[in-house]
Amino acid sequence: MEIESWIAPVADPDVIIVGAGSAGIAAARHLMAHGLTVTLLEARDRIGGRTLTRRFKGHPLDLGAHWLHAGPINPLVKLGRERREPLRRAPVDGHFFVRGRAGRRVERAALDRAFAMADRAMTQAAKAREDQAAAKVLPPMGPQGHRVAAIHGLVSGRPLEEVSLHDFPSMEYADNLFIAGGLGAYVARLGKDLPIQLEAPVRAIDWSGSGVRVETAVGTLRGKAVIVTTPMAVLQQDAIRFAPALPQAVHEAIHGFTQGVYEHVVLHWPDSPFRGADRLASLTGTRREPPGLLTCIDSTPFHFFELDQPIAASFDRRDAHAPFRFARDVLAEHFGHRAIRSLTALHGTAWRNDPWSRASWAVVPPGLSAIRDTLKAPVGERIWFAGEALSRAQWGTAGGAWEEGERAAGEIAAKLSGPRSAG
Ligand SMILES: Cc1cc2nc3c(=O)[nH]c(=O)nc-3n(C[C@H](O)[C@H](O)[C@H](O)COP(=O)(O)OP(=O)(O)OC[C@H]3O[C@@H](n4cnc5c(N)ncnc54)[C@H](O)[C@@H]3O)c2cc1C
Repeated sequence: MEIESWIAPVADPDVIIVGAGSAGIAAARHLMAHGLTVTLLEARDRIGGRTLTRRFKGHPLDLGAHWLHAGPINPLVKLGRERREPLRRAPVDGHFFVRGRAGRRVERAALDRAFAMADRAMTQAAKAREDQAAAKVLPPMGPQGHRVAAIHGLVSGRPLEEVSLHDFPSMEYADNLFIAGGLGAYVARLGKDLPIQLEAPVRAIDWSGSGVRVETAVGTLRGKAVIVTTPMAVLQQDAIRFAPALPQAVHEAIHGFTQGVYEHVVLHWPDSPFRGADRLASLTGTRREPPGLLTCIDSTPFHFFELDQPIAASFDRRDAHAPFRFARDVLAEHFGHRAIRSLTALHGTAWRNDPWSRASWAVVPPGLSAIRDTLKAPVGERIWFAGEALSRAQWGTAGGAWEEGERAAGEIAAKLSGPRSAG
């Protein structure tokens, strides 16, 4: 990516931010706008975290987040409009195939009906105070029932048996947008001109004194407060040692999340049967159905074949080509071998194996929906947690991470700027 203009990190800033993904960038911008000094410490040699745009055959494609979900409440959409970024609305209609031929209207209507039934049942059941697995409340939905559950499982990051029902009404996926040039490139633009130290993995946070001492692989910084935006799955590996140890409730909340898995296989398929741009395709009627397929991205011959958690978990992690073979086999099953002659798989993401993410996002298991609130409360008025995992209405998304970065920064700004302006 071309955006590489960061300013020198501040030695001992007011606030240290761990991680330069969406949450960290949002927090830094907010704090700096309030006149506070910040330094972002980023483990990788790039910013953006789980948003990343890379070029394939000259075309930018997102290897992490791609959709701007929940347009009306997504802060990245609001900011994009203010900045006149090239946003475009995602189509609402998709392709529907049965054993490789265009599905009939009544078959498509059956799928739509099954989705509506599932949504109604989950929204209604989630009103109960007792939480339970989202899968438990699904009504009989006819032949399309398993497909509905598979798609909800894909976008949740885990099979619905493992997902809190209380998270469903907040899954505001209507009104989606895309951004030309990629969401990763957009987030990187937003991180331009921030004081960032790259390749500085944080190893320890000492909060025994009045402020914080943050130890990285390349030195130690002191600050008044720290915002930790590291993914939950990374924190669960004890990648950062806290001294003193975090309170038990906070430790348990961090360990309460499970790893959401969602991976892209990037396909180049010039002779695909798909027309139009940016449409999801439902392929049904055969033994294996891809849980997600986004076709003709940005009107190009590129497509994302999405892998859900059970499929990704079935691959041997040493076999980098397994996802490619799987995508080809499934598409051949639907369209025949001749139809996929021009298809090549160019890349398969493996965020679940990346030491700085270890998952695509964090999932709240049934019964644990309170863990987000536990993590929103600062520890010792010095340590704030932020990131996608903490967002209730936009969990698992870049917009949710941004929202949470701004929330943490807003609380710190109120605390640190208050006495100053009074004095
Ligand atoms: C394949 C895929 C598809 C997705 N699709 C979508 C989508 O379409 N729409 C959507 O909104 N969301 C999507 N998501 C989710 C979205 O990418 C994340 O929710 C969001 O980017 C998380 O932002 P964050 O700031 O919370 O965390 P991150 O972006 O992970 O940022 C945390 C940062 O902390 C750094 N870090 C980790 N450990 C340390 C350490 N010890 N010291 C210093 N730095 C550290 C990491 O390198 C990283 O840069 C997708 C995710 C994946 C993987």
